[in-house]
Amino acid sequence: ANLSFHEEVIGETSSTEIRALKILCVGRVCLDIVQTCTQFPAEDSTERWQRGGNASNTCTALSLIGQPCELLACLSADDHITFMRDDLRKYKIDYSHCPVIKGTGCLIASIILSLSTGSRTIVYHNQGLPKSTLKSFMELNLDEYCWIHFEGINIDEVLLCIQRIEKYNNSILNRTPDRMPITISLELESPRSGSRLLSLLPHVDVAFVSKEFANNLGLSNMNEVVEVHNVGQNTKATIVCAWGEKGAIARTSCGVIVQSPAFPPKKVIDTLGAGDTFNAAIIYYLNKSKVEFMHKYNRTACTSDTSQTTDTSAVKQSVEKNFNRENFKSNQLNFITEAVLQKTVKFACCVAGAKVGLRGFDNLD
Ligand code: ADP
Repeated sequence: ANLSFHEEVIGETSSTEIRALKILCVGRVCLDIVQTCTQFPAEDSTERWQRGGNASNTCTALSLIGQPCELLACLSADDHITFMRDDLRKYKIDYSHCPVIKGTGCLIASIILSLSTGSRTIVYHNQGLPKSTLKSFMELNLDEYCWIHFEGINIDEVLLCIQRIEKYNNSILNRTPDRMPITISLELESPRSGSRLLSLLPHVDVAFVSKEFANNLGLSNMNEVVEVHNVGQNTKATIVCAWGEKGAIARTSCGVIVQSPAFPPKKVIDTLGAGDTFNAAIIYYLNKSKVEFMHKYNRTACTSDTSQTTDTSAVKQSVEKNFNRENFKSNQLNFITEAVLQKTVKFACCVAGAKVGLRGFDNLD
């Protein structure tokens, strides 16, 4: 992986908060059976098995970048459960709240990767596994999470989950000042759910718009996606759009646009999961910036009144006095400045560029 960039941008600054609180990804996990072919559809292909699904891949990349994370997705009790569990453990992904469903096989994606054209052809089997994780989500202790990312399936359920997070965020307004509201992100990928996914935008902080989704809206390049009247008009959402080898673009809630080229590896080997890796890197970097912003905010609140005292209760009172939670919450995404978003998008393109040069995810760290 592109470690020099990683070290330069991330350095040693990972704070204890980033390590302590988890990022939760809600969506699907499946078994990917990947045929890598020299040409499509060659017969001399080699087959490999890996854990797949967007939310699951995003967790893999988050974990490899060094972020504690959790997956919430339905697992099949019948087939391949040992393979899935072992792999989740191998990548240190918490799956303790995943519902385990009996009587239905594991979702399987047969994938043909063509090395000559870079094309990916995916055929799904066993689509009978329920997708609902609502019950498990409602039982989670939200104190454990700093960010919750939704894959963008089960849209009615996603709305209910988001409403629970919104309620939680409001309830922590009067609690300890070092607790920031949970940030909500959503992937807009499936063109079939176009308008319903768009209807969730007013509820989310960060939205990932895929090329396929954008094409379906009649948008033919990433610049069109961030034109304010096209996606996310009148919402607070930061819009992020990756566009394969063209790189990526993003727009802050204030309308500032930033862009990064792609960082291609010497040889493109495997683009499967590039988008999920890109999303993970964006979430990781923004979350890190959020924690740093919070520290700075608290320090300012502290030192303005209490530079002369070492009495910790006085310091605490001062923080509480100076910390306007209501104001802070409504502006929670103020930390996504133009500079932060620019660095974030560049970082994500670097990480995703490193990933496409690797088979699977190993060595991304
Ligand atoms: P998806 O896997 O969802 O189709 P994209 O193709 O949009 O995702 O790629 C996500 C990111 O991965 C891009 O923004 C880019 O940074 C990186 N990427 C993808 N393909 C390539 C490539 N061929 N060369 C370099 N970077 C790439």
